[in-house]
Amino acid sequence: MATSYEPKLEKIQQQGRCRNMSPDIHFGTASETLDERSAREKAAKEICRQCIVVDDCLLYAIQHDINTGIWGAHTPDERQNIFD
Ligand code: SF4
Repeated sequence: MATSYEPKLEKIQQQGRCRNMSPDIHFGTASETLDERSAREKAAKEICRQCIVVDDCLLYAIQHDINTGIWGAHTPDERQNIFD
């Protein structure tokens, strides 16, 4: 990605709306069903959309090729498709 701005993970972790929530909301569990995954991802995205560091979070995940979890209100596939 062509940008010189690099968000800091520490800022995201300290200011993110999810900072005191279970990581299961954004990353799920191995045993979840497809319906459970869909509902969880929807809930996680709602949390992200009210987060003050949502843009930094999304950019960080893209810049670091993070391929798990909801970051910045986007699934891994959605992040991958942003520049396709
Ligand atoms: S955008 Fe979502 S995943 Fe990222 S810090 Fe905010 S609440 Fe957490």
